[in-house]
Amino acid sequence: MNSFLRRLFLADFWKGLILTFRTQNPKNVYTEQYPLERPMVAERYRGAPRLNMNPETGETLCISCNLCALACPENLIVVGWHRDDATRRKVLTTFTYDTSRCMFCGLCEDACPTDCLELTQDFEMASYTREGAIWDRHRLEEEHGCAISAVSNDATSAPPVFQTTLPWNYVRTPSHAVG
Ligand code: SF4
Ligand code: SF4
Repeated sequence: MNSFLRRLFLADFWKGLILTFRTQNPKNVYTEQYPLERPMVAERYRGAPRLNMNPETGETLCISCNLCALACPENLIVVGWHRDDATRRKVLTTFTYDTSRCMFCGLCEDACPTDCLELTQDFEMASYTREGAIWDRHRLEEEHGCAISAVSNDATSAPPVFQTTLPWNYVRTPSHAVG
């Protein structure tokens, strides 16, 4: 009889409806309003790669040592360089990073002796093409390509104004310069 009455008065239906409306209070809503609100990522999150520049001279910190490429288990980094006849130093010419094959293990970042290569906290790395996932030196240095690729593959478009956990021009203090 009890079961019959429950079914007659749709007790389970009303119970579910009450539960639904009880969670309509805005303080109980946990949906992230992305991309209007940027989620905070963990401080040690490894995302979009970047080649850092010397903030004083504006020149690349890369010394073309190739250690990042050697450390990468996926062999997805290709460093191009030539020898300067005057200084006998290597000069970086090209740098290619295939983000589509990267597992963001951070081994390349750890291997870099100048803290040039950095995996930033930026996570917007989507692109419309496979070619768009291969970042060249210009993209790694100048455009911080992750945000641009999420919006457009047009290399001439301006970076979107997003609030990130770190500024786009954030430059980490090289570990060899600390202390
Ligand atoms: S994060 Fe790992 S997989 Fe990605 S480029 Fe660096 S070493 Fe290679
Ligand atoms: S390890 Fe660093 S300095 Fe060496 S080639 Fe890679 S990015 Fe350049």
